[in-house]
Amino acid sequence: MKITAIETHVCHARMRNWVFVKVLTDQDGLWGWGEATLEWHTRAVVGAIEDISPLLIGEDPTRVEHLWQIMYRQQFWHPPGFVRGTAISGIDLALWDILGKIHNVPCHKLWGGPVRDFVRLYSHLGGGKMEDFYQTDPSDAKRFGELAASSVADGYTAFKSMAVPETMSLEGLKPIKYAEACVRAMREAVGDGIDIMVDCHARPSPAMGLQFAKALEPYGLYFFEEPCWSESIDGIADVQRAVTTPIATGERLVSLHQFRDLLEKRACSVIQPDIIHIGGLSEARRIAALAEAHRVSMAPHNPQGPVSTAASIEFGFATPSYIICESVHQDVPWRDDIVKDGFTVEKQGRIVRPGKLPGLGIEINEAEVKKHPFQQETILRTFYKDGSAGDW
Ligand SMILES: [Mg+2]
Repeated sequence: MKITAIETHVCHARMRNWVFVKVLTDQDGLWGWGEATLEWHTRAVVGAIEDISPLLIGEDPTRVEHLWQIMYRQQFWHPPGFVRGTAISGIDLALWDILGKIHNVPCHKLWGGPVRDFVRLYSHLGGGKMEDFYQTDPSDAKRFGELAASSVADGYTAFKSMAVPETMSLEGLKPIKYAEACVRAMREAVGDGIDIMVDCHARPSPAMGLQFAKALEPYGLYFFEEPCWSESIDGIADVQRAVTTPIATGERLVSLHQFRDLLEKRACSVIQPDIIHIGGLSEARRIAALAEAHRVSMAPHNPQGPVSTAASIEFGFATPSYIICESVHQDVPWRDDIVKDGFTVEKQGRIVRPGKLPGLGIEINEAEVKKHPFQQETILRTFYKDGSAGDW
């Protein structure tokens, strides 16, 4: 069996372009689907996949690890590097999909079978309108409380929010009080039985991240995400050592080596590798083993398209340290027209039961994808009060 072609199918889905990767073989009807979505770098990833493809054409698609090593080691430039890491990930997912289809089992059975009965999902209160939250209007607290209650009414037992406002590298009490009011409103709205997460999007400096973490500690967050830049591992570690709240980070890290550094410094309690950036499911499994050795939980980053979600869920069924899956349903109303997936989402509790379809258990409708061709992503820019550039 040989790989005959690697195609990319770009689908514009509101704030991002989904990049679906199709690896074709010389066997009729046998192909695999992956995803290599990388916001604001769509053309670069499509080009990177085109650059990598000559390494794989003519190769046996069932040698997944061997092909991963070829993609990683050859052509001189190793990841980290998000463009190449994402390109490798998209192809790697498609190769696992092919392997599952050949053996007629879901991918999690290739990796030792299910370690749990269901995967838990969490929602995001932002719903794609996060920019509204950056105005530090005191009435926002009430709105956070209402959104939290609505998420619980929709069946979720956990949700994430953007309750920490943008701040300069050092500010006074106002943003701290604002964040605390918003989190207090959410906790009062849903009680102690619901898990609340707060994502800082790595905007604060370590000094501000530490203040936010201290102020929110009494509210029992499930985890507090990216309190500062992930390249400042020491800064994240300082925050983790100062509070009992589990600190989460990792969505902007690529490769086993960066996670090794993070874990060795005991900088966090939850790692959030993005399966379609770090090097795919092959690298995710290695990172999971490392996390297991450090007894650190995994909550993979997953805001992209449906193949990324299917891969995350398959990975979750086979990975003991996997605690929860980020879910996005409301990005585009036609999401279900693009993909047919095999797993079952139960509204009550928003949990996912394993599917029986082989591989990643999904099929992409290429005709529907063609209805949503590439569009330049909206350029999102942030400037502080004094006109200096901030982190979006
Ligand atoms: Mg995040």
